[in-house]
Amino acid sequence: MSLIPSSVERLIEELERLPSVGPRTAERLAFFILKNDPTLAAALGAAITELHLGVRSCRLCHNFAEADLCAICSADDRQTDTIAVVEEPFDIIAMEKTGHYKGLYHVLGGVMSPLDGIGADKLEIASLVQRVRDGGIAELILATNPTVEGESTGMYIRQQLQGTSIKITRLARGLPVGGDLEYADQITLGRAIDGRENF
Ligand code: ZN
Repeated sequence: MSLIPSSVERLIEELERLPSVGPRTAERLAFFILKNDPTLAAALGAAITELHLGVRSCRLCHNFAEADLCAICSADDRQTDTIAVVEEPFDIIAMEKTGHYKGLYHVLGGVMSPLDGIGADKLEIASLVQRVRDGGIAELILATNPTVEGESTGMYIRQQLQGTSIKITRLARGLPVGGDLEYADQITLGRAIDGRENF
């Protein structure tokens, strides 16, 4: 006989499937929801159930959208000749928070990872190449993560766009603010040296 009611056990099991939620956290969350007013459980349940009904993929950039085009693609104050290529929609939120970028985006939906069976065909690369070929784009900023997969995906995209006149750049890799030179990994420090600027 289990000490935990089966409905609570089921919730714990489901919560454990979420990223960064271990068994202890899942238990705490489940009991918190149980002890609280039933309206909390109802509101949470409704929000989760309706999630996929209200959110879709932007036709142009594949960001999260609530209509055919996302909030950025449909805004009239963006610089439409520049596209930043990111891995996931969360990366757009990070870029937007800086306030330093006013162009458009293209969400790949991940990076190429042969070991995991993720090839170019599983990502939004063909649609990116098509966007560039459709014209009106002057610069593509590769803003994939500074990982081996992020770098090789960037290189693959560059190959696909060979022969076009588009300018391709990538985010400068630097040292984190407040970081210590001696603790920076070799790649980060190497990139910071390569990307040094006038002072
Ligand atoms: Zn969009």
